[in-house]
Amino acid sequence: MKRLVVFVLVLFVASCTSIPAEVRTAQQRPQSVIFFISDGCGPASFSLAREYQREVMNKPKLNLDTFEQGSTITFAEGSRVTDSASSATAYACGVKTLNGRIAMTADQRPVETILEKAERAGFNTGIVSTARITHATPAAFSSHVPLRSMEAQIAEQQITKDLEIIMGGGRQFYTSPADGGSRTDGRNLIDEAEAAGFNRADDLNELMAADQLPLIALFTNSHMAYEIDRDEASEPSLAEMTRRSLELLKEAGEPFIVMIEAGRIDHAGHANDPATHLWDVIAYDEAWQVAIDFARSEGNTLVLGTSDHETGGLTLGAEVDGMGGSGYGYDPTQLTPITSSFEHFSGELAARMQAGTADPAWFADQMKQAFNIDVMDVAEEMGSIIAQADTNQAMAGWRLSRLLSKSTSDPARVGWSTGGHTAVNVPIFAYGPGSAQFTGTLDNTEIGIRLREVLDLD
Ligand SMILES: [Mg+2]
Ligand SMILES: [Zn+2]
Repeated sequence: MKRLVVFVLVLFVASCTSIPAEVRTAQQRPQSVIFFISDGCGPASFSLAREYQREVMNKPKLNLDTFEQGSTITFAEGSRVTDSASSATAYACGVKTLNGRIAMTADQRPVETILEKAERAGFNTGIVSTARITHATPAAFSSHVPLRSMEAQIAEQQITKDLEIIMGGGRQFYTSPADGGSRTDGRNLIDEAEAAGFNRADDLNELMAADQLPLIALFTNSHMAYEIDRDEASEPSLAEMTRRSLELLKEAGEPFIVMIEAGRIDHAGHANDPATHLWDVIAYDEAWQVAIDFARSEGNTLVLGTSDHETGGLTLGAEVDGMGGSGYGYDPTQLTPITSSFEHFSGELAARMQAGTADPAWFADQMKQAFNIDVMDVAEEMGSIIAQADTNQAMAGWRLSRLLSKSTSDPARVGWSTGGHTAVNVPIFAYGPGSAQFTGTLDNTEIGIRLREVLDLD
């Protein structure tokens, strides 16, 4: 009797201390993986988006915040600061390599990617990006070249890799000049993919109508629009691309791995364009939630997210000359009136200058409408830039972009330390079976190795 009581007591204690269901799940193997890479999105990028949403949109936290559980070390072989090619190769192949290499070692040996391994094991695979699909990040999951600039060759390889989804921007390296592209061999790889059995979508409506994989959906010639500039009627958001991809992958029924890149957070970081950076981070957060909702209803899908590196050296609370010495005036709400990226405005300005329609009244009106800048406040610098535009348009363009950066960043006390990348760690977010493998501070190659381990791929 005494023994029985002890036995029951042990059982009772064991059940009280047993592992909670979500922890057990986190330690299991996923059937499928949704892997997000937020290019150039550092810790301060997430803070900026969170604090902006809290103050302006009455939303206390990012969707991502629930799932943060570690950070990634990003250095490259031969460089403490990585580029997207080297870091994406670490994720796709589990190896360190030089900046610029795409799924190849420093000595130019190709390394099998996780998507190639998954194809061999019968998975469906896909690449989705708001950047050109031939750009470094998606390229490292779908091709092997020694230099990231070999985008024409990257495109050729992409259509032969048995990918079920090729989605994003970048018709440019798929097509020849007759079709608006820059290939020099006369080929149209989109037509070739279609002839080989791919379904095709060229805009948002066609994406929604596409009902089967494989699917090639390249929406723009170069990168897709920044979220702040996007035409919602024609170009899908990252969340819409994510949702449609997951719907089609689910219908196809096989286990899958899809790499989804928020590819332009990086570009806004390079441009030191704070509002554009902010809105692309928010667009990523919305896409993340789409994946989480999918994974919650499916129960067998790992959702993993990290960045390849930080871009811009973004800081929140910068000292600004002439605006008081202290950085405590940080105020993300100052970004609210901004309605355009620098890139979009500069493009329109250049087009109007060419057409002779860039008159001063239009310019002043646009500066106010798009960036909340009173031209009279920057009249001296603007005059000097306009004078230079006649002799050195590139330098004038660069100076205009610096002026826009200062005029939009300073009021928010948002600072930038570089036009390039930095070496700070970037956060890891994870949910679902296998997520327990992605905690703590991990090297980017460990992420790649653990990804294939949780999928049991060799
Ligand atoms: Mg990228
Ligand atoms: Zn970059």
